[in-house]
Amino acid sequence: MDLLDTLTAKGLRGEVPTREEALAVLATTDDELLDVVAAAGKVRRRWFGRRVKLNYLVNLKSGLCPEDCSYCSQRLGSKAEILKYTWLKPDQAADAARAGVAGGAKRVCLVASGRGPTDRDIDRVTDTMAAIKDADPEVEICVCLGLLSDNQAERLKAAGADAYNHNLNTSEGTYGTITKTHTYADRVDTVQKAHGAGLSACSGLIAGMGESDEDLVDVVFALRELGSDSVPVNFLIPFEGTPLAKEWNLTPQRCLRILAMVRFVNPDTEVRIAGGREVHLRSMQPLGLHIANSIFLGDYLTSEGQAGQTDLDMIKDAGFEVEGAGEATLPRHRADVAEAAQAGHASGGCGSAASACGSGGGCGPCGGHAHGPSSSASPAEEAAEDAADAPDDELRSDLVKVRRRGAGTELAPNA
Ligand code: SF4
Repeated sequence: MDLLDTLTAKGLRGEVPTREEALAVLATTDDELLDVVAAAGKVRRRWFGRRVKLNYLVNLKSGLCPEDCSYCSQRLGSKAEILKYTWLKPDQAADAARAGVAGGAKRVCLVASGRGPTDRDIDRVTDTMAAIKDADPEVEICVCLGLLSDNQAERLKAAGADAYNHNLNTSEGTYGTITKTHTYADRVDTVQKAHGAGLSACSGLIAGMGESDEDLVDVVFALRELGSDSVPVNFLIPFEGTPLAKEWNLTPQRCLRILAMVRFVNPDTEVRIAGGREVHLRSMQPLGLHIANSIFLGDYLTSEGQAGQTDLDMIKDAGFEVEGAGEATLPRHRADVAEAAQAGHASGGCGSAASACGSGGGCGPCGGHAHGPSSSASPAEEAAEDAADAPDDELRSDLVKVRRRGAGTELAPNA
């Protein structure tokens, strides 16, 4: 197939495809699917070998968010019966992080719900990072606290953060239908602030919210332009009690095509399968490892993943290996760019290699498309109405398991 030969050749050279080629990947048929996976797999192995990076989420503060991201179980007005708690103490967060590292994770992702941190919140996270790095100085820490104000990224960097996550989530054109309490430009600004402070950029998307192929391609190219070092690909988890509870738009085949498109546009960038992996890829998860080089271990922020040991077994059975703490994730040429940015802080802002916040799967999987213009109802009222509108037979709560263990509970973490 000419398309796949072209994409493979470009990917092996680290070149980005055209927008039309990216769209064509999403339009391939099921008969072509294994060829698509094989082509993306060649690109993945060229830059990342057979390594799989494991990341571990610690939800520092769960639920009760004043923002209205319609995909999110923690949003304003959410009726999802998730765990709700305020800031974990540093030793509690460090205990959870230690479980993830013991399970094989090389990066810990510290996430808190909310529009953005106060300066007191930055102090809290500073203490938490110190507690984690005291126990394991090698562990990478990525922080995801929402929209950043001036100087907060610099403070996080000085306190030892390696990366900042803030997802763009969807295209600029559709962002306003997903969230009304902040804008796409706000999110880009935070990615740029993090990057400007020398933090590695982690910024990704959520698929399955009713977006078009063009929207997906738009956001993936935008992430490439921002220079995200890591691109988490979330597949919407339609939580009962959120406006997107009935948005079951994805198949395992569609998820694989999306991952392949993301890989071709980001050949030498960490591509992570984030929230919704088990829910949407299901038995096709091992094929996803041929495209992505990174996953979350164990549970997500508000939902449970498969057992951590099952993740490890899957990686081994598929012929891959867990990336060790001493191994570089990014190819040398990308790592050089990232290190130069971190050393020099901002070569004039964020033009390449930026990061964002957002937490894969965490501040994450929500979906929902085509929400019309804002009515006179408040966001909370709209959320409650939307959730109530979802017929029971369109809810798939059998596939979505709310997290009841780990951080914020008395039960051991899944790692
Ligand atoms: S995604 Fe983040 S900011 Fe948006 S509602 Fe959820 S926790 Fe709040």
